[in-house]
Amino acid sequence: MESANRILWTFIALFASSTTLTAGEYLQVPAGIHFDSDVSGGKYSVEELAKICREEDVVVAIVTDHDNMRVEYGVFPLRKVTGFLVRKLTGKGERNSISNFGAENYFRLFEEVDARYPDLILIPGVEAIPFYYWEGSPWRGNLRLMRLHEHLLVIGLKNAEDYQHLPSIANGYPREFSPKALINLIWATTALLGIRIFRRRKVKRIYLGNQLLLVPSRRNQGIGALIFLASLLFLINNYPFLPPKYDQYHGDQDGGPYQVLIDYVNQRGGMVFWAHPEVEQKMKVNGIEVYTPPYHEHLIETHGYTGFAIFWEGMKHIGKPGGIWDRILHEYCLGKRKRPVWAIGELDFEGEGRVENVKEMATVLLLGEKSQEGVLEALRVGRMYATRNFASQWLTLEEFSVSDTYEVAYMGETLRTHDCPHIRIKFAVTQPKEFRVQVIRDGKIIGTFPIHGSGVVEFDDRTVLRSGKVYYRILAVGGDWAFLASNPIFVEFG
Ligand SMILES: [Zn+2]
Repeated sequence: MESANRILWTFIALFASSTTLTAGEYLQVPAGIHFDSDVSGGKYSVEELAKICREEDVVVAIVTDHDNMRVEYGVFPLRKVTGFLVRKLTGKGERNSISNFGAENYFRLFEEVDARYPDLILIPGVEAIPFYYWEGSPWRGNLRLMRLHEHLLVIGLKNAEDYQHLPSIANGYPREFSPKALINLIWATTALLGIRIFRRRKVKRIYLGNQLLLVPSRRNQGIGALIFLASLLFLINNYPFLPPKYDQYHGDQDGGPYQVLIDYVNQRGGMVFWAHPEVEQKMKVNGIEVYTPPYHEHLIETHGYTGFAIFWEGMKHIGKPGGIWDRILHEYCLGKRKRPVWAIGELDFEGEGRVENVKEMATVLLLGEKSQEGVLEALRVGRMYATRNFASQWLTLEEFSVSDTYEVAYMGETLRTHDCPHIRIKFAVTQPKEFRVQVIRDGKIIGTFPIHGSGVVEFDDRTVLRSGKVYYRILAVGGDWAFLASNPIFVEFG
């Protein structure tokens, strides 16, 4: 009995100790998310990036090189064989990536560099290119490469092997049965037929006067060999015989291929963030048009991802009050989504421009412990806010909380209450600047408050209908620009 009590008390103590951190007790650290190193075409090596971050006081650096940079076009009906030959013979279609460098080597490199910079938390990740497709045809001169710049950041996978096998067009999508697979039976039959024709001896009968000459003919052998080789070529092209769920020759597949990647990463304990979702990319490479339309709609079509990049890449349609993010959070409140999604600030630093730019966009993490695990946990539970335009250099969101008489909830958390929620926002600044803060509840701005210097905003939300689940989030705005976005705090009534 006594031992049962002890276990109970240990359990209560553990539980209590894990939930007693208040806003001030979390360590706020600025993180740079999405650097490209020279492993996949960035200007600086991982070591140089670490040095830059240390000098610029970026405490956490999440480097996300490309998983693969392989693009392939093959000609119907032997797409795979011809695509492979073109790639190998011309050497075109592949640039540097983790896949070339080796995921094991990539992980090892980070471990080595991380050990040399004890003040920096250096985390390897991947910017995945799961999908692209072709439009038009080379014969008509209108071949277009679509959606190549639709990217997702994969962070927190534990094994190099899991990174190596991320689902993509280059790696191949899972294969599944479709009636199209039956065509391989035809090629197998014609291959056998070819062998039979090849082996059937045929002789030519030639009469010389009344004398009969039997001359062996090679015609059958030629026809048989041709049929056999052609069938073999089709079988090689279709190997391993079941068609992949997605490939680059069947047009746009909406959110489908991206969902496969998200599910794969979730099953292995990692996180996925949509990278630059509102960016449109148009360019010409080797005379071929490469076009990626903005893909914010895919945030609605897919489920289970951890978050997305707000601001430069995701404010016009997603992060604005009443935008796609609010729609998604509302779906979560209604129980239509299993989990909410979080906003991060995405740096996308390839080394162009000044090195100070590594501070332009920051994701400020509230860490329970200053370690790689602490960083991944904050990202996973949404305990962070995003800033741009170097705002993290002069501004700190010291507190954003929603409380009742008994409990306080911070970003990413849920307050369960019957009462009217009390909202508290506290900024600290090192430069006197004027801006305003917008408080958003369920997609609508419920209050705009001017901030002069450091400021506290505090009020009871008496207008909320106290039923179901709602959420609050804030934006700091200067002029027409939002430069700080918090993650939401949920309130569940009843
Ligand atoms: Zn990208």
